[in-house]
Amino acid sequence: MKKDKEPVELNKELLKWLDEEDPFGLNEDIKTILFTCLECGEEDDIPEYVVHEFQVVLKRNEEVETVCPVCGGTMRRAGKSPK
Ligand SMILES: [Zn+2]
Repeated sequence: MKKDKEPVELNKELLKWLDEEDPFGLNEDIKTILFTCLECGEEDDIPEYVVHEFQVVLKRNEEVETVCPVCGGTMRRAGKSPK
């Protein structure tokens, strides 16, 4: 009779490895910047790297703006009081 070996230990080790090494970066904290809609007050977390990409396109003194998913209005970085 064939002896079937259950690969339980292997799976355990694999899960442990996945948990510890986090090879896909899923548990990595992504820095986000909070944007708020000027029109409706909707808040949205934009990953910092996305904001940086926007900033590269814009001039330094220009504010990064995104479009509100709710009302289509302008979203700007929160915490900066508009003058
Ligand atoms: Zn809005």
